[in-house]
Amino acid sequence: MNILILGGGGREHSLAWAVLQNPKCDKLIVAPGNAGIAQIAPCAALNILDGGAVVAFAEENAIDFAIIGPEAPLAAGVADRLREAGILVFGPSAAAARLEASKSFTKEICDAAGAPTAAYGHFTDADTARAHIRAQGAPIVVKADGLAAGKGVIVAETTDQALAAIDDMFGGTFGGAGAEVVIEEFMEGEEASFFVMCDGETVLPIGTAQDHKRVGEGDTGPNTGGMGAYSPAPVLTDAIAQKALDRIVRPTMREMVRRGTPYQGVLYVGLMIQDGEPRLVEYNVRFGDPECQVLMMRLGAQAMDLMHAAAEGRLDEMQVNWADDHAMTVVMAARGYPGAYEKGSVIGGLDSLPETSSEMCFHAGTARQSGQFVATGGRVLNLTARGATLHEAQSRAYALIDEINWPEGFCRRDIGWRAL
Ligand code: ATP
Repeated sequence: MNILILGGGGREHSLAWAVLQNPKCDKLIVAPGNAGIAQIAPCAALNILDGGAVVAFAEENAIDFAIIGPEAPLAAGVADRLREAGILVFGPSAAAARLEASKSFTKEICDAAGAPTAAYGHFTDADTARAHIRAQGAPIVVKADGLAAGKGVIVAETTDQALAAIDDMFGGTFGGAGAEVVIEEFMEGEEASFFVMCDGETVLPIGTAQDHKRVGEGDTGPNTGGMGAYSPAPVLTDAIAQKALDRIVRPTMREMVRRGTPYQGVLYVGLMIQDGEPRLVEYNVRFGDPECQVLMMRLGAQAMDLMHAAAEGRLDEMQVNWADDHAMTVVMAARGYPGAYEKGSVIGGLDSLPETSSEMCFHAGTARQSGQFVATGGRVLNLTARGATLHEAQSRAYALIDEINWPEGFCRRDIGWRAL
């Protein structure tokens, strides 16, 4: 099979790494990819938001199967364009991708499906939103309705913070994404991520994970795209996962079918768990990054079979062969991230790192210049390892970090602390 992966982060590096382990993969191209991905597969410069360009590229390269990593091409309808051209795709239609692209849409689906989630209001003008906040009090959560790269959510501890968030959002800080807001009840509890594959009909759980969103140790400081993750998530027991499937995921999938927009792809189910009861925080219509890296390390070659079966509507034939293992990924970021940071610093030590089925350095933001790796983003490397215990996975991931010579980079030293 000739496979095309769209995307260029650590998530896509781990997807490419898993796909290449599967003997059914004859040829793999990643677009746009990055310097780490280029070490294992050809990378092509391509505007992955342009459905026409992606279809033309796939046809020229005789692609049989496309895997879409990030949300933006999904929301832009790239999966639809590929399917119309007769190319098999892993990833939802633009209509189904609204489960991530519009928070009010997801809330409406939860209402229709009876799925437990935070109580909410949906507002299109600032005055009504402010009145709602004053009536509800704090803590309260203010969310821009549309895609805002993880920055459109304000968990406000005071009414003033919430009112300031309304000013920002209606003032245009998030562009079109903030023209509508969802205001939610603050939910207490512990968060965990539950991943399922869907083929429109069948839902198959493929693992659990927890990530660390805050930049600082002890989960302090500003939010980031994620500073590390581990799988499985001990807080998400089998019993809680079953409740999440029965009460949240399956009713949502049925509601999507009822609306004529069945969901196909991986669904990231962000849960808040309190006293053994899961409630939905959010859906993402793609693998989380960096959670994907730990899932790929645990699933290995079967990840591709699962994605292919989801795309072909055969998930009912599949099961996941779980090893009794744990995986962890630690993010190395450029100093200053998530604020301003320098680009272009040289990263040493990468060429001599071990690359095995249980230790990998996935690249998130690197380029190759004069034979050296340089940092090109905020989150730059994902040192990922597997072990019989979470402790072993952690020791191995940090042993990889210690091999890297990058004075301009940093990482958190406490990834996994909650579970350990
Ligand atoms: P992401 O980058 O995770 O995709 P997002 O912009 O889609 O972010 P959400 O996941 O909805 O936003 O919210 C971001 C974070 O805010 C959550 O991971 C959670 O920690 C917190 N949060 C969101 N909604 C609530 C809520 N109702 N109660 C408590 N915390 C919440």
